[in-house]
Amino acid sequence: MNLARLLTGLEPPDLVSVSVENQALQLERQSAAALAKMQQAARLDGIELAVASAYRSFDRQAAIWNGKMSGHRAVYDQQQQQLDIQKFTGFAKLEAVLLYSALPGASRHHWGTDLDVFDAAAVASNYQLQLQEAEYQAGGPFHKLAMWLAQYAGDFGFFRPYQQYQGGVAAEPWHLSYQPLSDFYLQQFELLMLQQAIAQSSLTEKPLIEQYLPDIFQRYVLNICKEAL
Ligand SMILES: [Zn+2]
Repeated sequence: MNLARLLTGLEPPDLVSVSVENQALQLERQSAAALAKMQQAARLDGIELAVASAYRSFDRQAAIWNGKMSGHRAVYDQQQQQLDIQKFTGFAKLEAVLLYSALPGASRHHWGTDLDVFDAAAVASNYQLQLQEAEYQAGGPFHKLAMWLAQYAGDFGFFRPYQQYQGGVAAEPWHLSYQPLSDFYLQQFELLMLQQAIAQSSLTEKPLIEQYLPDIFQRYVLNICKEAL
């Protein structure tokens, strides 16, 4: 296994499925085992800890990125207002997309240690999951889950790297990370690895990305919420 390729989503980790309903939802083996234990505990408290998104490859993230950069996929600001991406230029254009979508090569979802969760017991089976902060705040269907995660996720090795907005990625209370492995991955991750992955890609706005890559790495990769477990 080549660590640089794994960290940038070009090569998958040792993946196992984490959903009976959707076999395509996969996590790295240790993270999946920890998640299963956490799901058992949550169930005892009436929470059906369901996975909305897990491992994503570089190509999968690239499809999301290119869709947003070209205007084919909606881009929102922090007030959930839709933006016209074509009106943005320079770093502001990157910023608009990076608020909710990682740069391909720089997503923690590449590592197989990170996932997005919701409480399937709190909503009808046909509920359209938005993955918006309000759903996880007081009055939202997943507030109970958010409170539960704040208290217990650490017992299973998980933390919330985007618990609060701190100038990079928006607050994503649904995003969990298996810290025993992801902390190690973040330590190993270097700007040069990301530069190489971008250089061999054909991403929309590639020259702009390359121009600002050190800033992106600092603000959106290294700049996470550190939670003591
Ligand atoms: Zn996520």
